[in-house]
Amino acid sequence: MKCPVCRATYRSSGVRETASSNSQTLIPNSRNCHRCGVDLSPLIQIHDQAIWYHRQAIQALHAENYSAATTWNDQALSLHHNNADFHALAGQLWALQGKFHQAISAWERARHLNPQHPTATACLRGLDGS
Ligand SMILES: [Zn+2]
Repeated sequence: MKCPVCRATYRSSGVRETASSNSQTLIPNSRNCHRCGVDLSPLIQIHDQAIWYHRQAIQALHAENYSAATTWNDQALSLHHNNADFHALAGQLWALQGKFHQAISAWERARHLNPQHPTATACLRGLDGS
């Protein structure tokens, strides 16, 4: 995730993931950009929400409920459009439904965002070789 103000890459400190649960007030600066100091917590909330939708989509995919998986993934993409994982999953869902034209464009979007994305790269290579 990048800071919208200065484009610095945001890294979670990891402190809030560990130890006691009621420690939020002890780490006031963990959600600010390390470079320009802007408060990123609204963005982080949206990002976390998008990741939650993405996880629901993967669970639905594993349950072979592709329409639910597509709905969850669309929700994730609507919140966070520049995540290569979301586009790669969209590609898998399109392919599973036989819509390879949409699948390829989704994988190409994933590779545009992350040229080394493993799923998108493997899927596109698999199509090339067939
Ligand atoms: Zn910044």
